[in-house]
Amino acid sequence: MKKIAILGSTGSIGTQTLEIVREQKDIEVCALAAGRNAARLEAQIREFHPEIAALWDEKAAASLRENVKDLPVKILSGMEGLLEIAAMPEMEILVTAIVGMLGIRPTIAAIEAGKTIALANKETLVTAGHIIMPLAKEKQVPILPVDSEHSAIFQSLHGEHGNNIQKILLTASGGPFRGKKKAELKQIQVEDALKHPNWSMGRKITIDSATMVNKGLEVMEAKWLFDVDLGQIQVVVHPQSVVHSMVEYEDGAVIAQLGTPDMRLPIQYALYYPKRRHLSGKRLDFYQLSSLTFEEPDFDTFWGLGLAFEAMKKGGNIPTAYNAANEKAVSLFLERKISFLQIPEIINTCMEECKFKAHPNVAEILETEAEAYALIESRW
Ligand code: NDP
Repeated sequence: MKKIAILGSTGSIGTQTLEIVREQKDIEVCALAAGRNAARLEAQIREFHPEIAALWDEKAAASLRENVKDLPVKILSGMEGLLEIAAMPEMEILVTAIVGMLGIRPTIAAIEAGKTIALANKETLVTAGHIIMPLAKEKQVPILPVDSEHSAIFQSLHGEHGNNIQKILLTASGGPFRGKKKAELKQIQVEDALKHPNWSMGRKITIDSATMVNKGLEVMEAKWLFDVDLGQIQVVVHPQSVVHSMVEYEDGAVIAQLGTPDMRLPIQYALYYPKRRHLSGKRLDFYQLSSLTFEEPDFDTFWGLGLAFEAMKKGGNIPTAYNAANEKAVSLFLERKISFLQIPEIINTCMEECKFKAHPNVAEILETEAEAYALIESRW
């Protein structure tokens, strides 16, 4: 039996991870954690019988504790709950599927405790990659990517140990507004931005796909995961989302991973790496695939993508400013308080105005987050 814990079990990645647990039948769920969705977490506790469950929200945790007192489960809350789960002695793999920088501390705690990380929470690497990656190396802990593009790259690297990567070709669907110019995006409503053409995901990441900020975050994530120069990462728009990403080697060979858009595949690959298992679901039918197309991203319309390259070049805490500004801007957009095109404007302002720190520790990363939030609150 594999023993896993899931942070963010009630979300899109979390529930799909549990679908795999349900289907494979040889994974034991040691712990589950969520934000405040007590009802969904309770249903998961009753089905998967974890030893520990945690809700960030204390009140929600108290009512959950009351509702499951017939079960032998310990209910925790807040950061303490996440940290206790991250270091549980019997757990082997921590699936980090919460949203935001909140993932940094539990990920560090899990690495310190020698746990394998199945990483969906890209914000952790974007903001603290300089802390996480050397620590994982020191503790010899694998960081297995769950993001579909990074899983594709990881799969394309398999068996190539020692061969130099020339380029990482990170594919992007282009989102619902591919082909549109800035002027056409002025009146975009929340509902339009939430319609992703290929993938069904959480709300925040769906907006990030529409702005292409998600691809920007993925560029930064790829740089940390695969230890390449920024100049070796090329974003390629591929609207069909069949080629999930590619690696070009020194001899010009390009190795890609293809599949239907189904997040369960990369999640399952991370859980069973290096083994492959049967996975139910649609298969690619090459007789039906009429064409696979590729194009250059439109860096003018999708300004947020270019800003990610700039943030990574500046380094230090600027990727944190980028990420924090985006998180706040997306929530303001979802609350209909700002327009779609203001999202990259806000990111740019925070990148320019947050105090630069060259080697931020976790506290300084969180200070930068607070600084960006305060800046945005004072102006928008
Ligand atoms: P969702 O919004 O669907 O789910 C987020 C999860 O995090 C929920 O379980 C939520 O609990 C939980 N959560 C929120 N706040 C807290 C908190 N303070 N403490 C503990 N748990 C909390 O997000 P996704 O599943 O879409 O994304 C998760 C991560 O995976 C993100 O970093 C995203 O970028 C990444 N990712 C997602 C992909 C996808 O296909 N969805 C693809 C690749 C990467 P609650 O329900 O109670 O709010």
